[in-house]
Amino acid sequence: MVHLYNKMPSEGFFGAAFTTVDRALNWFRLSSVWYLLFGLACCGIELMQTGGPRTDIDRIGSVPRPTPRQSDLMIVAGTLTYKMASRLRLLYDQMAEPKYVIAMGSCANCGGLFQLSYSVVKGVDKIVPVDVYVPGCPPRPEALTEGILKLQEKIRTERFLVKSP
Ligand code: SF4
Repeated sequence: MVHLYNKMPSEGFFGAAFTTVDRALNWFRLSSVWYLLFGLACCGIELMQTGGPRTDIDRIGSVPRPTPRQSDLMIVAGTLTYKMASRLRLLYDQMAEPKYVIAMGSCANCGGLFQLSYSVVKGVDKIVPVDVYVPGCPPRPEALTEGILKLQEKIRTERFLVKSP
């Protein structure tokens, strides 16, 4: 994402106007975090349940997308193997900026139960930058919802037009 804030005034009338635009853009973005379906193992079942009627994350603006080109968020749910890592990176690269990643569950965070296996990546942050880590094996849908709310908080504080104080 191109940050313009070095060229924009941060004070006075125009500063206030750009800050307002910044906040509005952030509000639009955080209210429509569409996530890429990327279930790799058992955590993927909890990811599906999170989009189901009981937890229903549609109500906070998050809907699943089957293509990276329409997704803002990649939720890596499950055990990432080295064989799968290049596919993960390819899908991440195909997502449009600004984009975010949530590592869901112990396997995605650090390899989890399979940390000693030669074939398992010891954390998806070795392949893509991670914004929020959701702990657990598996994390419940409520925990993933909390992770998405944390990501929304992060998006709310981002600045693209005016440098934050
Ligand atoms: S963290 Fe637990 S539930 Fe999730 S993929 Fe790993 S073993 Fe399965």
